[in-house]
Amino acid sequence: MNTFRRWTIGEIAALKQSLPDALRFVEWSVHEAALAQAVQPLERKYRMLLWKSHGCQGLYGDDGEMQCANAKRHGLLDFKRMSLEVLENALFEMRVREVSEAQQAIREAAP
Ligand SMILES: [Zn+2]
Repeated sequence: MNTFRRWTIGEIAALKQSLPDALRFVEWSVHEAALAQAVQPLERKYRMLLWKSHGCQGLYGDDGEMQCANAKRHGLLDFKRMSLEVLENALFEMRVREVSEAQQAIREAAP
């Protein structure tokens, strides 16, 4: 028994038209996966850089954790799990507040 089906001219024409789109989709998916794979280690490095260099003492880093719970400066920050946007905003607000406090202290100390 012949299991091959005969394709009509119309089906072949439709396949020829949709094939480039299908291939582009597959190509895009592969690129997305490769991009995600390439970005992951960079994001991990960036998170570690933020964690280690944000200027607090007593960082918590057991078992691969990257946390800081400095209540005076910013409250609990989980550099491993919180979104980068939340972390960056928290650190930016902390620095703006600290610069403002330093400027105020300088003004108050001026004769
Ligand atoms: Zn901190």
